[in-house]
Amino acid sequence: MVVGDIETGTEVLVIGGGPAGYAAAIRAAQNDTDVTLIEKEDVGGTCLNRGCIPAKALIHAASFEKDMEHWDEIGIHNKGLNVDFSEVQAWKNDIVEKLNTGVRNKLKAVGVELMRGEARFIDDSTVRVEEEHRTDKLNFEKCVIATGSKPIEVPGLEFDKKGVISSREMLNLEEVPEELIVVGGGYIGMEAVTKFCKFGSHVKIVEAEDRVLPNFDEKVVNSIQETSECYNDEIYTGTKASKVKEGGNPVLVAERDGEKLEIDGDYILVAVGRETSSGLKNVEVENAGLEINDNGFIETDSQMKASENIFVVGDASGQPMLAHKAYMEGKVAGEVASGENVGMDSQFIPKVMYTDPEVGVVGLTESEAKEEYENVKVGRFSMKHSGRALTTNGGNGFVKVIASEENKLLGATFISERASDMIAEATLALEMQAYLDDVIGTVHAHPTFPEAFQEACEDALGKSVHT
Ligand code: FAD
Repeated sequence: MVVGDIETGTEVLVIGGGPAGYAAAIRAAQNDTDVTLIEKEDVGGTCLNRGCIPAKALIHAASFEKDMEHWDEIGIHNKGLNVDFSEVQAWKNDIVEKLNTGVRNKLKAVGVELMRGEARFIDDSTVRVEEEHRTDKLNFEKCVIATGSKPIEVPGLEFDKKGVISSREMLNLEEVPEELIVVGGGYIGMEAVTKFCKFGSHVKIVEAEDRVLPNFDEKVVNSIQETSECYNDEIYTGTKASKVKEGGNPVLVAERDGEKLEIDGDYILVAVGRETSSGLKNVEVENAGLEINDNGFIETDSQMKASENIFVVGDASGQPMLAHKAYMEGKVAGEVASGENVGMDSQFIPKVMYTDPEVGVVGLTESEAKEEYENVKVGRFSMKHSGRALTTNGGNGFVKVIASEENKLLGATFISERASDMIAEATLALEMQAYLDDVIGTVHAHPTFPEAFQEACEDALGKSVHT
């Protein structure tokens, strides 16, 4: 029920409290600006509540079997393993709640006014904020749009059909499914495969392209497929999912090379990508004079400005749809909106995937570098030679570095346990425009995983010590 319009104002208004929005709000408030953040669900957005964090907590928990086998092999025996999935979920929810409280406390500490509700533009300096029993009108000087993204629905496989779920429901399943069908072999789908396969589900992957992870280098994909059975178990590539047969357990109807397939499972996870346009349409961006492009994003300049006083950040501003890109864009928008003169540098945004082993890619791949440069140098280091990896039951995968003829670092790929941590050093080196000698001349603590990056740089110069 609407009880009437209350009209207030703010210097910087942020719509959406995910990584992009809350980073923008905190940064602007740190610069002594009056900031209001409107969020219709929970602060932390997709990443904290139904993406990065819950997904990684479950992947960690799912590694128990591999860990137990390892402990057994090295003489630490713990018989009688019993997995209570509801306790695992409670532990995961507790992590989300802790981080959620942390974000709310930080917003409060820097003086951001957090308002619950759904914002819609009236014009380019006013929004209407609707909550169950209330409508407020809010004037703003500057606005940051950070409305994020949602899972794409496939016609015939809508999320309201029985047994058809998105990543959101997948992370809250009450029990481990015996059979799980994953439609979409991108990184979200493959991370789902990683966790449920390890928890004991039989996972069937359905991918329209001729291989899973089409956005990753083929060699990377081959390497993780060689390491774990999970990624080869029952895999349908070149297969288009078309609908679900209702009644009883869900049966996925798909087509491969003109042949009709029926694949059954307890759940069908549809993870074919994420879309941004419905959130932007819902916020009625056209009333603020903004246009959604053909890819569903709003274009901005390098200061994240879509118009004189409106910024767009995070998933809503374009690919890659990743939380760390969202954070950085949010900080830039928050700083510019509060008077600083900074810009977004999108050249080196790392991509990380929490498969087993993990994958991290930053800068150019070998084939991309060879298209752009002559006499590209490549250095490799196999993780089976890493002392640290062997002391932690690791040793799968490799590190590869790419450099120009002049030895300038162009890119790096990590396939290994802790690739998600190792990628940071390569990203910093690229950002600092480092040469191979800069990395080689940096003393790396021993024994550590990042030594592998130094070793790969040495290999690129023919100076390898450990291979
Ligand atoms: P979101 O996080 O989507 O936040 C948008 C917020 O805006 C939401 O809270 C929404 O409720 C609110 N909102 C929308 N419209 C309105 C409105 N009109 N009024 C008020 N509020 C509104 N990225 C990584 O970098 N690493 C990972 O490991 C990773 N794992 C992922 C795993 C999964 C399963 C998924 C689904 C995503 C993952 N991502 C990961 C992607 C990451 O979650 C997103 O890139 C990131 O959350 C984008 O941040 P954002 O702030 O742009 O949008």
